[in-house]
Amino acid sequence: MKIGVLALQGAVREHLRHIELSGHTGIPVKRVEQLDDIDGLVLPGGESTTMRRLMDLYGFTESLRQSSLPMYGTCAGLILLAEDIVGYDEGHLKKMDITVERNSFGRQVDSFEADLDVKGIEEQVNAVFIRAPHIASVGPEVEVLSEVDGKMVAVRQHDYLGISFHPELTDDYKIMKYFIEEMVAK
Ligand code: GLN
Repeated sequence: MKIGVLALQGAVREHLRHIELSGHTGIPVKRVEQLDDIDGLVLPGGESTTMRRLMDLYGFTESLRQSSLPMYGTCAGLILLAEDIVGYDEGHLKKMDITVERNSFGRQVDSFEADLDVKGIEEQVNAVFIRAPHIASVGPEVEVLSEVDGKMVAVRQHDYLGISFHPELTDDYKIMKYFIEEMVAK
């Protein structure tokens, strides 16, 4: 499979590495035309408002709203996929029927690591949270895959996968493999 990583800002190289470790081809996506040559797209972590500005500038916002590519967003990428964001008038790509809240694990614990049970994945997943959002509410089509302290941190809606944390900063590429094999290749 050819898997693109939106390469405007954020943790791009790390995701490309996980795609290769999963046995597939990773492609940094910088131009809208490249969307025609890939089978699935990763929206990396970084800073969602910066990413939105760059997506508007390079024509991605409208193209991705129209696109039927399977998508996997981590952290800021999850925020991009959400229909609504707490405290904002409107979401960005609005692909998933979820409301997210930014920076929701508190300022004292800006970042932390945890081993999580994720539905659909056999072993625990090593997760790094950095100024992470959580998923505050989900619509009826959304399946909750994981929670931390009662907060939803991984969800799937058909061809869309959204998670609060950063597996790409670890050596654990199980979620990438799940996205590609269970969602893109199906
Ligand atoms: N706090 C960032 C945002 O709101 C997301 C953090 C991240 O991607 N590590 O965009």
